[in-house]
Amino acid sequence: MIQITMPLNMLGSVYREIRQALVDMAEMFDLLDRPTEVADRPGAPELTVTEGCIELDRVTFGYDPERPILRDVSLTVPAGRTVAIVGPSGSGKSTIGRLLFRFYDVTGGAIRIDGQDLREVTQDSLHAAIGVVPQDTVLFNDTIRYNIAYGRPEAPPEEIEAAARAARLHDFVVGLPEGYETRVGERGLKLSGGEKQRVGIARTLLKNPPILLLDEATSALDTETERDIQDALRAVGRGRTVLTIAHRLSTVADADRIVVLEEGGIVEAGTHETLLARGGRYAALWRRQAVEDAA
Ligand code: ADP
Ligand code: MG
Repeated sequence: MIQITMPLNMLGSVYREIRQALVDMAEMFDLLDRPTEVADRPGAPELTVTEGCIELDRVTFGYDPERPILRDVSLTVPAGRTVAIVGPSGSGKSTIGRLLFRFYDVTGGAIRIDGQDLREVTQDSLHAAIGVVPQDTVLFNDTIRYNIAYGRPEAPPEEIEAAARAARLHDFVVGLPEGYETRVGERGLKLSGGEKQRVGIARTLLKNPPILLLDEATSALDTETERDIQDALRAVGRGRTVLTIAHRLSTVADADRIVVLEEGGIVEAGTHETLLARGGRYAALWRRQAVEDAA
């Protein structure tokens, strides 16, 4: 009995480590066919996206049931609009993204897209509807073309180029000795953080999803690159429903709605102007960041 239990316990911890690694990887790029903790309901229909409206309805969640991370979070992203979630590190911002992707099921409340509970539809159809622009795009040891078309290898060259243009990547690519056939990655040309991110944006554009999930980390980039990336992201967001998880407030000022999360609960919501005028949590975060940026 002991002989069996011991290895199983060890397997348990190895499994948890692998799971966390997978969560981290999934954040980096669309690793969509990985096993998840949740399973499709037998006979579950596909998600049908008509408008692209996202609704979090009194969502409660904890990775560990004893320790709630999100408490009674209600939030709607109307079709075609952009909602940004801001808040201190550890407040639960990325967790909302993981729940939208259904890496985990909510413990209370519901998340719906166009009225369909995420638990009632197939995960494949859910993942196909949501494009993720990751914090750190993973490049494969292959050509730029392959890297952009990853996920849609049959895409015609014109579409790949159009995606690269919209992602502000095309001019850079045609300046390379072998253009789109230039090999990148560990064993090829090393791209900068901003270039890699633009590859990720082009990849998402090519996938053309109605819903976008952005988990930003542009703080590692210089201001000019950040502005470029922001331009590209705005292009990607046009005509789509966008949920942005923001670390830098400068990137969310023009969102249709900003939601401030603290310790897993929404403490404020509104536009940049109304929140600044209110002089509350958002205004304080904004002032603090302005001081940091000036430093
Ligand atoms: P944010 O993105 O706002 O910085 P997260 O949503 O990543 O915050 O994390 C919220 C809380 O959940 C943190 O306390 C974090 O430690 C915890 N957490 C995040 N991921 C996991 C996980 N896979 N297992 C257990 N706890 C987690
Ligand atoms: Mg986060």
